Amino acid sequence: MSNNTNGVLYVVATPIGNLEDMTARAARVLSEVALIAAEDTRHSARLLDHFGIDTKMLPLHEHNEAEQTAALLQLLRQGKSVALISDAGTPLVSDPGFRLVQAAQAAGVRVAPVPGACAAIAALSVAGLPTDRFVFEGFPPPKPAARRAAFAALRAETRTVIFYETPHRLAECLQDLRDVFGAERPAVLARELTKQYETVRAAPLAELAAWVAGDANQQRGESVLLVRGAPPAEERGLDAEAERILRVLLQELPVKQAAALAAAITGLKKNRLYQYALDSKSAERD
Ligand code: SAM
Repeated sequence: MSNNTNGVLYVVATPIGNLEDMTARAARVLSEVALIAAEDTRHSARLLDHFGIDTKMLPLHEHNEAEQTAALLQLLRQGKSVALISDAGTPLVSDPGFRLVQAAQAAGVRVAPVPGACAAIAALSVAGLPTDRFVFEGFPPPKPAARRAAFAALRAETRTVIFYETPHRLAECLQDLRDVFGAERPAVLARELTKQYETVRAAPLAELAAWVAGDANQQRGESVLLVRGAPPAEERGLDAEAERILRVLLQELPVKQAAALAAAITGLKKNRLYQYALDSKSAERD
């Protein structure tokens, strides 16, 4: 339960490039609160200047969030309201603030969102990929082996997958996505959204990886990568190894037996292998 003598912690989204995306409410709240906790106060000073806001700022980043949280909670308990902003977009989305929000809630302080821009959602809204279900993966691991392992764990994910990536890793990240998800998997690069060089390009992963590797301009600025989810298991063909096993068995055995043995070897469902064998036999006859 929040205590109504406390201040309010406002979590305020700011633009991801185009300052016209600042909401009227965000500007008002930032000018009315007692203090703004900002990821980088120098960076945010430009935003506040632009909107004529002179509220005091306090730095809150991943290295000082624990200490600053205690100081901010004290203010909130004294009835002063505080706003949290990050360098761009929605705080806590691949940005600091989680500890502060958690601590405020635990202390009974009301936490109120002031929604606005978020690069992941802006990218999703124009990508032309399914939006009914999606997963946000944030930044992939920077080291290649860990990155590939993380992608391998997502290969069969059926929802649209959204990643953030930094400019200097974009090309290698796309190459790993292509190698792990397959050359043909549809994907989208959404770069510099809301800015002068905004680019949204949809293409199979192999094409996207080659395009970015061959054009240094596409590696500049800020990017969101989106990968179409895999088709559901029942619509997917067999992987190459399961198909090879089934074909070898079909040369010697009736369909039912071949499917049962292939199921025992691969761990796949017998019915699926049986149906696949029937379909490929009828395709051979046609
Ligand atoms: N909290 C932010 C949000 O709501 O989108 C994201 C912060 S995260 C530290 C920064 C990453 O967001 C960038 O590396 C990039 O992947 C993505 N991003 C931010 N602004 C973007 C833009 N204008 N166009 C494309 N991607 C952007």
